Amino acid sequence: MKHVFGPVSSKRLGHSLGVDLLPSKSCSWNCIYCQLGRTKQFVSERSEFFPKELILEEILQAVETQTAIDWITFVGSGETMLYKPVGWLVREVKKATSIPVAVITNGSLLHLPEVRQELLETDAVLPSLNAGSEELFNRIDRPAPGFSFQQHIEGLKRFRQEYSGKLWVEVMLIAGLNDTDEALGDMAAILTDVHPDMIHIVLPTRPAPDGLVGMPDDDRIERAVFILSRAAPVIHPAKGEMELGSAENLLETVTGIAVRHPLQERELEAAIGRLFPGMPTKVHEAMESMMASGRFDKVLQGEELYWVMRP
Ligand code: SF4
Repeated sequence: MKHVFGPVSSKRLGHSLGVDLLPSKSCSWNCIYCQLGRTKQFVSERSEFFPKELILEEILQAVETQTAIDWITFVGSGETMLYKPVGWLVREVKKATSIPVAVITNGSLLHLPEVRQELLETDAVLPSLNAGSEELFNRIDRPAPGFSFQQHIEGLKRFRQEYSGKLWVEVMLIAGLNDTDEALGDMAAILTDVHPDMIHIVLPTRPAPDGLVGMPDDDRIERAVFILSRAAPVIHPAKGEMELGSAENLLETVTGIAVRHPLQERELEAAIGRLFPGMPTKVHEAMESMMASGRFDKVLQGEELYWVMRP
């Protein structure tokens, strides 16, 4: 098949049948982290690059022959919404199957009313927000002439007002660029206005074209989860289990972590539970005794309680 691939397994969308609508690479941005390489020529005009009937036929054939598809996801070799008949495809797919439909997009065209309209029947839309300032937006996403930061933010806000499906904003976290407290605070402020249902932090795990992209360290990732959860629940990019070593010097171990980044109370409790399996009273006592040390404060961020060092 030319346009349909998978299902691929993804943490966020389970078994996702991918649908690529574009010739490679067709994009309105030239992100420094793009796994497709540099954008040699910007594409800003929407078009039916391939006949929509052909793409629909491929999707329906895949749905008939494959079992265990959790999502049908429009994504691919550039900016998905540059494909003009996305709305038609979404409608036709939804007439034929009850599998939910998601669209992954950079969001650069959401300022256009017709683009927002075409997405209204989808079940989830995953647009990008990688910067909370114009300067960082231009450094990270490097948009085509005519695409501005303000336009991008306005598009996201307007779309949220009109869209009742799941809005899951993706943030690509890049070391030394948007992982500072200031940059994260700027993004959190914008996201508070946008009101996404969730924020997904993603990491630059694949080779980038200009070698300008660094992987943030664990402390910065934790900091990003903490700061962005002011705006909405945050999905951690690769959550492993918190390791506390042994029950000896628990207070010092937890202090050593908390001075570097806030600790999610739920995870802390689970980690202590692994040290005292089957002993919930002991776990409760350990938590109480650490809090009684006076070293920590509890902070509610979004729906999560965090432990932070008391100033
Ligand atoms: S928006 Fe996506 S496809 Fe376009 S340059 Fe950025 S990462 Fe690449």
